[in-house]
Amino acid sequence: MAVARQFRGPIDLHAHSSVSDGTETPAELVHAAAVAGLGTIALTDHDSTAGWAEASAAARTEHLTLIPGMEFSTRVRYASVHLLAYLFDPDDSALLAEMTRVRAARLSRAEQMVARIGVDYDLSWDDVLAQTTPEATVGRPHIADALVARGHALNRSAAFADILHWKAGYFQPHYAPDPVRAIELVRAAGGVPVIAHPATRGIGDVVAESSLKTMVEAGLFGLELEHRENNPEPTKRLYELAAKFGLSVTGSSDYHGTGKPNLLGENTTAPDVLDRIIAEGRGAAPVYG
Ligand code: AMP
Ligand code: FE
Ligand code: FE
Ligand code: ZN
Repeated sequence: MAVARQFRGPIDLHAHSSVSDGTETPAELVHAAAVAGLGTIALTDHDSTAGWAEASAAARTEHLTLIPGMEFSTRVRYASVHLLAYLFDPDDSALLAEMTRVRAARLSRAEQMVARIGVDYDLSWDDVLAQTTPEATVGRPHIADALVARGHALNRSAAFADILHWKAGYFQPHYAPDPVRAIELVRAAGGVPVIAHPATRGIGDVVAESSLKTMVEAGLFGLELEHRENNPEPTKRLYELAAKFGLSVTGSSDYHGTGKPNLLGENTTAPDVLDRIIAEGRGAAPVYG
C-alpha cells in the first residue's frame, strides 16, 4: 500500500526561533517559512521545546507541516556536537532532566563569560538579558547581540570571529551529555536523532568510523550532510559511511532569522527521508496544517 503523504515540500528540518538563538518568534518563523515557499519546517531550538505550542498553532494558520524538534547540545571533550531530535515526547522525564541540566549549565557559563569579557569591555549581564526572551536557551549569540548593542562588534558574525572566538580567551565550554547518551535518551523518548552539520571543523574524531558505529548502535537515524557549514572532504567521506551504516541523509538551512546569513530552504530534505522520520517518531506527532 502506498504511504499517503500528508506533508508538503520543500522540507527544511532545522530552524531556530527566539526560544533559543533565532531572532524571530516561533510564529514569525513559521510565517517566514510559508513566505519562503516551504511546505514543511522543523522547529529545532537549542535544548528546548518551549516554542512547540506557538509554532504548532502558526502551522495550522499558515497551512504548513510542522515537525516538532530540538537541537540537543552534546559534547565530547572540547568538541561541541549538535544532535537534531525529531518527534520525541517533550514530557519524557529522563530527557527533560538532561535538557534542564544543559540549559542551567549554559546560563552559568554565559554569566561567567560575560564577567570575564566585562573586565576588558563595557558589558554587563543586564546587557545580555536585554537580548533574550524570558524562556530562551542562552548562548553565545545573545552575548554577541549584547556586544553589538554596546558597539563592540558590527554584527553577530563579527563578534564570533573576534571577542567570542576561543582564541580571544573568553570562551568557556558548558556541560553537555555525551552524544551516545543523548542518542539513547532521544530514542527512549520516542524521538529520531540526526547529527547536525557533522562535517564542520573540530568534530572529525567524533564522526570517525568507529565512533559513528557506536552511535549507530545506540540508535542514530541520520546525518545532516546538506548544510552550508559542512566541509566538502569530510562530507564526501560521511556520505560513504552513511551508505555503509544505512544512515539517512538530511539537508537543512539552520535558519536563525537575521542572526545568521542562512536562508530558509537553502538546503532541503528528500520526502522519503521525512517519511521514515515520521514512521520512526513515536513521541510526538507532526502538525499537518
Ligand atoms: P554556544 O552554543 O552558546 O556556544 O553558541 C553556538 C551557537 O552560536 C550556534 O548554535 C550557532 O548558531 C551560533 N553561531 C556560531 N558561529 C556563529 C557565527 N559566526 N555567526 C552567528 N552565529 C554563530
Ligand atoms: Fe544556534
Ligand atoms: Fe548547530
Ligand atoms: Zn542549529
